[in-house]
Amino acid sequence: MSIRIGILGYGNLARGVESAIRQNDDLELVAVFTRRDPKTVTIKTEGVPVDSVDNVESYVGKIDVLVLAGGSATDLPEQTPKYAKLFNVIDSFDTHARIPEHFANVDASAKESKHVGIISMGWDPGMFSLLRMISTSVLPEGENYTFWGRGVSQGHSDAIRRIDGVVDARQYTVPIEAAVERVRSGENPELTTREKHLRECYVVAKEGADLARIEKEIKEMPNYFADYDTTVNFISEEELKKNHSGLPHGGFVLRSGVTGLNKEHKHIIEYKLTLDSNPEFTGSVIAAYARAAYKLANEGSFGCKTVFDIAPSYISPLSGEELRKHLL
Ligand code: NDP
Repeated sequence: MSIRIGILGYGNLARGVESAIRQNDDLELVAVFTRRDPKTVTIKTEGVPVDSVDNVESYVGKIDVLVLAGGSATDLPEQTPKYAKLFNVIDSFDTHARIPEHFANVDASAKESKHVGIISMGWDPGMFSLLRMISTSVLPEGENYTFWGRGVSQGHSDAIRRIDGVVDARQYTVPIEAAVERVRSGENPELTTREKHLRECYVVAKEGADLARIEKEIKEMPNYFADYDTTVNFISEEELKKNHSGLPHGGFVLRSGVTGLNKEHKHIIEYKLTLDSNPEFTGSVIAAYARAAYKLANEGSFGCKTVFDIAPSYISPLSGEELRKHLL
């Protein structure tokens, strides 16, 4: 029997999850929920209903894992604890500074209702977090470095779109080349947030909107932009469609550490992602971990989990025996 998946919220990430489900024979999409009029939302999978979020409760018992595909800025802090009361859930919450608070809210809700709530899944947070954790445990003396881009950050683009007067936006995260070179040379530099990345924004504003106010709100937004050098470019809707419609991303996690009685040996661990489509890759990570949510719930291991709390074999459709034979 397949694991029955629902998706709540239908944007870029939801479409990525939908296509990932098609690549996993043990996963089945059973419904998509939206806050908009369901008649206005067309999905790619034939025969699967699009229903109003108001009807989600009637799917209890028909969905094994509900994927929450809303935005991190305002949707997920409210939606994930709310729907963990009804279903096993998984989200991609990526406001790093607020993860402890989000974890506590989802944990309370999931434990009380006996569900599993996996949060902050994707590539960062997600696969990058896991690699940071593993390499820090293996090389306790050293430094971690994470560089993102050049690529579109959906979380940051989403946050700009929530500003009054903004019609659409794309935000590119750009690693600063000089900083990357210093790390790769083994120098172990101390780098501030501002020294590592630039944030480049392309914004379509409503006609007559106060552009200076929008620019100020973007540049001063805590957690998202305040700690970076940010450029804001106002462009037309046509230009955005023509030049900024793709969603590529990527980046790398590095740890340089030392071992030996006199710390004489240097080691560099590097994990790199080059992604043609950020939402499709993130959706693929979520699909694999939705499988873990299902298995953990069947074992009665309720509450909130992050990528750190889930044993690797839980995300695979293969048995332990098959994994040991083919992938160890
Ligand atoms: P979108 O803006 O495309 O979608 C967010 C929500 O907005 C949807 O769930 C949908 O809800 C609503 N929406 C979508 N399209 C429209 C529309 N045309 N008109 C009105 N509302 C719409 O965001 P993304 O899917 O790109 O990203 C979601 C989150 O994923 C980001 O905030 C980010 O935090 C996270 N993310 C995390 C990553 C990680 O590595 N952890 C990587 C990439 C993304 P509804 O259907 O209910 O209206």
